[in-house]
Amino acid sequence: MSAPPASHLRCPYCEAYAVGRLYLGSVHLDSCECLACGARWDEEPGSGAFRGRASRASVVVPRPGPS
Ligand SMILES: [Zn+2]
Repeated sequence: MSAPPASHLRCPYCEAYAVGRLYLGSVHLDSCECLACGARWDEEPGSGAFRGRASRASVVVPRPGPS
């Protein structure tokens, strides 16, 4: 009997499994990067809880409101 693999190693954006991971000891986070679409995000080491996007440069977010 084998446990299913942790699904958090899959990219939450494009669902590719080509995810690189770096442990950031200073902030106690895992920095993940999708090798398929280039998205980056942070996870809690151990639990794998999603902690949000790590980079705003690779993900374009529309900013509402006139200026
Ligand atoms: Zn991806």
